[in-house]
Amino acid sequence: MPIYEYACRKCGHEFETLVRSGSVPDCPSCRSTELEKKLSVFATAASGPEAPPAAGPCGACGHPGGPGACALN
Ligand SMILES: [Zn+2]
Repeated sequence: MPIYEYACRKCGHEFETLVRSGSVPDCPSCRSTELEKKLSVFATAASGPEAPPAAGPCGACGHPGGPGACALN
């Protein structure tokens, strides 16, 4: 279940909340539903390291020449 960060357009309150599908979150401060969705904290934390560049080490053996540079490919 994703956690989203919202900023309330009405009062400016920023908060994080779990969002169930089909439900509309509201501001815990003023109950407004005019919210601006910000980054998903959950997705950011779970994304892990960025994908290696195309010229990165071979995923099978770690050869610095990249995929295809070693006998394992
Ligand atoms: Zn508000």
